[in-house]
Amino acid sequence: PAVAPVAPVAAPASTLVSSSQSSNAAGRMQLIDENQKFNSAHFGPSLDQWGLADAGFGYDLCAVLGSQSTGKSTLLNKLFGTNFDVMSETARQQTTKGIWMCKGLKMNVLVMDVEGTDGRERGEDQDFERKSALFSMASAEVLIVNLWEHQVGLYQGANMGLLKTVFEVNLGLFQASKAKTAGAKDKTLLLFVIRDHIGVTPLENLSATIMADLTKIWLSLAKPEGLEASQITDFFDFMFTTLPHKVLQPAEFDKAVDALRTRFVDPKDPNFVFKTEYHKRIPADGLPHYLESIWEQVMTNKDLDLPTQQELLAQFRCDEIANAAFALFATSIKDFRKHIEGGSILDTLGADMALHRSTALASFDRDASRYHQEVYKRKRVDLLEKLNSSLSPFFLGQLKNLHRHMLQNFKRSVLDRMRTEPNYDFGLVVSSEKRTALAKFSAAANAVLLADTDWAVDEEVAQLDAEIQAISDTMRVEETKKMVAQIERTFKKNIGEPVEMALNAPGPEMWDQVLVAFRRTLEQAEATYVRKAKSFNCTEEENTAALAALRRKSWLSLRAKVDEQTADSVLAARLRGCFEDRFRYDDAGTPRVWKPEDDMDGAFRKARDETLALIPLYARIEPKDPAVAVQLASTEDDAELQGAVDRGEEEEFDFAQTLVVFSEARKAEIGTRFRKEADALYVEAKRSTVSSIAQ
Ligand code: GDP
Ligand code: MG
Repeated sequence: PAVAPVAPVAAPASTLVSSSQSSNAAGRMQLIDENQKFNSAHFGPSLDQWGLADAGFGYDLCAVLGSQSTGKSTLLNKLFGTNFDVMSETARQQTTKGIWMCKGLKMNVLVMDVEGTDGRERGEDQDFERKSALFSMASAEVLIVNLWEHQVGLYQGANMGLLKTVFEVNLGLFQASKAKTAGAKDKTLLLFVIRDHIGVTPLENLSATIMADLTKIWLSLAKPEGLEASQITDFFDFMFTTLPHKVLQPAEFDKAVDALRTRFVDPKDPNFVFKTEYHKRIPADGLPHYLESIWEQVMTNKDLDLPTQQELLAQFRCDEIANAAFALFATSIKDFRKHIEGGSILDTLGADMALHRSTALASFDRDASRYHQEVYKRKRVDLLEKLNSSLSPFFLGQLKNLHRHMLQNFKRSVLDRMRTEPNYDFGLVVSSEKRTALAKFSAAANAVLLADTDWAVDEEVAQLDAEIQAISDTMRVEETKKMVAQIERTFKKNIGEPVEMALNAPGPEMWDQVLVAFRRTLEQAEATYVRKAKSFNCTEEENTAALAALRRKSWLSLRAKVDEQTADSVLAARLRGCFEDRFRYDDAGTPRVWKPEDDMDGAFRKARDETLALIPLYARIEPKDPAVAVQLASTEDDAELQGAVDRGEEEEFDFAQTLVVFSEARKAEIGTRFRKEADALYVEAKRSTVSSIAQ
């Protein structure tokens, strides 16, 4: 049936006011109807009837919140002389759902009472309960929170879930923008009225319990930007009072209500509730529009598509259960840290982590699965994520330790095998050790890889692979160097004798012999390199570079031999030898005994000049047959070599310069020295002739 705006004018039977309440000049009006529609048409006229149309700021607004049938309407009627519907003590008749408004008797107080359905349609009921609570909180100066004493400390009974939701939405919807623009926050008084107070537990204890619950709720709220650090007391003041049992102690109850009333009407009362700071500063004539706009915001707000009470409870409890499970879990995994951080590899880490995780989940499942299934499942996902992220550092740490361990092992094994296996094939050793290391790593890494995580080991395996490759590359370079050095030593050993022999028998083809020997020895060296380098998996470039270096070093080694064989004393001895061969021996190789008729001067000059002619031959490496000449690149002509010089890997190498054995100046010096020696030998020969004649 349609409900008239103001009873008793045209109210249906169920909402007729009793005669005791008809003394109130105007009855109650339904502000929000059972279809959640705001009754804008009758609000203005009602204000008129209540004589408040011209009250300006001279009125106050009060509302009530609390579970069904906790005596809210009874209290309001007693306190303010209003005529809200009261559930009959004998027949549980249906009251009309909605938000009702009434003016207090002989006071400019507008009182709002909420009627929910006491039915079984809990979901729908909760939707309206939340909307009306939010509306009341946003519009009233004083919000009476009505609860039984035995509900104190109970999450659901004491409306804590409802309050949490309403606090949260109120903060986001009505306070955030105000706090930003005005700076000053809009304060509301929450007056907790604890009903059926037996008296055993003092008010202070009850209020402390409620305050603690509220503070906890406030901490857990999702707060809008800029209000993250806000306190519950920034937006609410609190007052607590108790009332005795209305039926068992009717006289005390009435007395207590009378006392409570003075707080609403006597500004001199220290507990006066309508402090100016709670007033929303809306003139009475603007109230219809103002309240309608608040209701509209409440109705259109998406945040109010809120979880049901059951879900809220589930969230709260699942969080508690998850926290307890996690706390146990956290202590049980504590020991891993020092081992992992100390660089150890824990053999059973994977199994241990899995066990601790499943223990925590099992304990969560046992207690939490009884709650709202979707919430439970969602919270389980959250818990699993939290467990995983606590374990993840151990997983990563173990991988890091394994990684280091495998690298060390790899290096050690390769070196060991190279030491103990006499004819090892470097390439084979490296590839087999690498395979072993990677296989071991993969196995160990997979052993700590838990299911139901986003963990992966592929990247780690790839990285280890790359690092092992880098190490083997370095080892290969070292090994190649060692091999090349060995080849160079062999070359040096082999080139010595042919050079010495050729330089010992100077002649026009002296250098041809040297160079032919060089070529032959170098060819052997290169062949050795190519043969050995095969198993090293060297790149084409590395081979080209190594061979070029080998050629250069071989050449330098030849040059060193040449230098040694043309050092001052060696060369002087050689020249003297050549001279003596010519001067002191005849063509048949027989020692000469000079007779006076012999052309000793002529023989001397011939031997001396022939020997002198050898000096330019020694001075420069130049074969008679241009076909045997050696040509190597100089660092200057070869950009790549120059680059290597710049990087400090190679020395400056000027091939043309290396062909010069000694300079013009030294040529002259050697010549002069030789002449002196030759002259001395001549004088000595002359003397021997003279003395033989004298005999
Ligand atoms: P509301 O649904 O919260 O508005 O509750 P009502 O005011 O309609 O009262 C519900 C029932 O509780 C009625 O039968 C009242 O007589 C009874 N009641 C009202 N006040 C008290 C009280 O202080 N103590 C107890 N035990 N019952 C009360
Ligand atoms: Mg009621």
